[in-house]
Amino acid sequence: MSIYEEVLWANDSYAASFGDKSELALPPARHFAILTCMDARLDPAKYAGLAEGDAHVIRNAGGRASDDAIRSLVISYKLLGTNEWFVIHHTNCGMEFFTDEVMRALLASSLETAELGADGFSDVGAGPGSSEADYIDWLTISDNAKSVVDDVTRIRRHPLVPGRIAIYGFIYDVSTGRLIEVPDASKAGLAT
Ligand SMILES: [Zn+2]
Repeated sequence: MSIYEEVLWANDSYAASFGDKSELALPPARHFAILTCMDARLDPAKYAGLAEGDAHVIRNAGGRASDDAIRSLVISYKLLGTNEWFVIHHTNCGMEFFTDEVMRALLASSLETAELGADGFSDVGAGPGSSEADYIDWLTISDNAKSVVDDVTRIRRHPLVPGRIAIYGFIYDVSTGRLIEVPDASKAGLAT
């Protein structure tokens, strides 16, 4: 089966036992949101105990507080009533393995998938690439705990985010499945 067929097959089975989920309200029933990485090893529904309708989950590469993540979080509280937010980065994140300069050079070289070796990513594809990557801040991570503190702090200080929202900072450990709190981040995110 192709991925396309696998997805549709899985969806048939999901919809067949959809039950009363059609009754779910639009606003998250448990009034919280999670901002986390798109990493395939992370399943927020499982690691944080979510069912359909419980919470907002916003994902991007790194789980970073990008302008677009903040756009979603503002909609999350302003229109849909969340009042506690978790910023959850993780160990062994791919965003630790490159810099803006590396990403820009890789994309300038070709649009094929790069290879990850002991010395980091290297480009193996045939060109041409594009210099358009120069205009994107890739929001890479050099220190895991610091990136959580930085993102919680950015959200906390954002003029569209009210002080009453509590923001917690965590690192998910991909070797154990545990959420480890980053005390300086949660401190920065305290509700006022
Ligand atoms: Zn990641």
